[in-house]
Amino acid sequence: MAAISNGHEASSFNIPPIKFTKLFINGQFVHSISGKEFETVDPRTEEVMTKIAEGGKEDIDVAVKAARVAFDDGPWPRMPGAERARIMMKWADLIDQNVEEIAALETIDGGKLYHYCKAFEIPAAASTLRYYAGAADKIHGEVLKASRELHAYTLLEPIGVVGHIIPWNFPTTMFLAKVSPALAAGCTMVLKPAEQTPLSALFYAHLSKLAGIPDGVLNVVPGFGPTAGAAISSHMDIDKVSFTGSTEVGREIMRAAANSNLKPVSLELGGKSPLIVFDDADVDKAAELALLGILFNKGEICVAGSRVLVQEGIYDEFEKKLVEKAKAWVVGDPFDPKVQQGPQVDKKQFEKILSYIEHGKREGATLLTGGKSVGNKGYYIEPTIFSNVKEDMIIVQDEIFGPVMALMKFKSIEDAIKSANNTKYGLASGIVTKSLDTANTVSRSIRAGIVWINCYFAFGNDIPYGGYKMSGFGRDFGLEALHKYLQVKSVVTPIYNSPWL
Ligand code: NAD
Repeated sequence: MAAISNGHEASSFNIPPIKFTKLFINGQFVHSISGKEFETVDPRTEEVMTKIAEGGKEDIDVAVKAARVAFDDGPWPRMPGAERARIMMKWADLIDQNVEEIAALETIDGGKLYHYCKAFEIPAAASTLRYYAGAADKIHGEVLKASRELHAYTLLEPIGVVGHIIPWNFPTTMFLAKVSPALAAGCTMVLKPAEQTPLSALFYAHLSKLAGIPDGVLNVVPGFGPTAGAAISSHMDIDKVSFTGSTEVGREIMRAAANSNLKPVSLELGGKSPLIVFDDADVDKAAELALLGILFNKGEICVAGSRVLVQEGIYDEFEKKLVEKAKAWVVGDPFDPKVQQGPQVDKKQFEKILSYIEHGKREGATLLTGGKSVGNKGYYIEPTIFSNVKEDMIIVQDEIFGPVMALMKFKSIEDAIKSANNTKYGLASGIVTKSLDTANTVSRSIRAGIVWINCYFAFGNDIPYGGYKMSGFGRDFGLEALHKYLQVKSVVTPIYNSPWL
């Protein structure tokens, strides 16, 4: 069984009070029109922490109107890019200044590791804001050589009012990955955080106002998917939807967009990513990478390396080391600095993962380690590794979104490529090898949006990120993401001797 932290250091942690629980519309925190609220639960204790105003269709409508006015008549799309950049930079500084409080919110809301959020995720997200702030005054079209008679050029214009719908696993990263490029482009927006994790989004909204983002530019409306989320995707006055979440909901978003105003959508969806370890790898380091690949953020990460393919020459040694390391992995209170894995986000996710584990056992896979919940309070699950899996098993095909790895053996590079691509998803992949030939061959053969060679989870603001196949389309991060929120207008005029006028 995985080591369990006793949580002594955690219990002394001073958790700040939750300050923001209402909808943020047109620069104000307001109650929902229906007066409804929903509970938000601490996944460490299963206790209700607070109630959040529940946005519905009518609240989304009010938020969209505010965003529309801010877009059509407000200063944000019209101000010089450098001025937008200055405000965005100020917001980033405010995020850095409040990092401890935001990290605590992420931990009580989503069960995320406090020290990781404080040292990495939140500062990285502030740097995303700065990256796009740096682009805000460099947005321009191009001069075209249309013909001898015509002068033509393109303008890059903000796409308009954007609807962002985000999931619960990386509330901070997702919030700023969506909002930052859209702000740099000059758009206005309505964002719906996941119902499981609304707290940091509301805190960011508060800081955006302090930074000077004009009223109506950024509206944050917590609520549920089928009500508030669906109201965004089907809204006639939203010009673009940027969604991150499950493939099933992505399909619904696309359908709603098609059935309303044909708004473009970008979809960052699920994954079942392969990590391929070749015979020439350093077995110890590769086992460590594979373990991190599945256990980081308790496996609740769309790019988790949930299928680990190991070449036969090193397989036995790799399996032994992997299991040893998994047993030493520390599960416990996410405020404790020694802990490597906190609780799953909520009861639903916890039960879903445990039922996949039972399914794996029934399907005949070998349970090498883990397989059970940890403790009798909170949504903790042991790091779990299955071997002897077949490619058509549910635990190999479905995205489990938890700390559950399917470990497989392969013979040749061709076998590895075939297995790696044997999935409906195509989000990420990893290769561990010392051979440049192998790395080059495999990286060009895998159908996935990112290939990590001798690393995993190596992200950067300038590295576009998104899916092939049923993992979606469109990219977050990089200048690719900025272009999601811009549209091209061509301007054409005769140079001389016009035959028109
Ligand atoms: P989800 O699809 O259930 O929910 C995501 C968001 O969509 C939430 O805000 C939810 O309220 C909203 N939603 C739900 N139903 C809706 C509807 N009918 N209309 C509009 N909005 C609706 O996903 P989840 O369980 O919150 O997150 C886990 C999923 O997200 C996993 O599949 C994971 O792979 C994926 N994910 C993908 C990425 C990526 O970048 N590709 C990143 C993180 C998570």
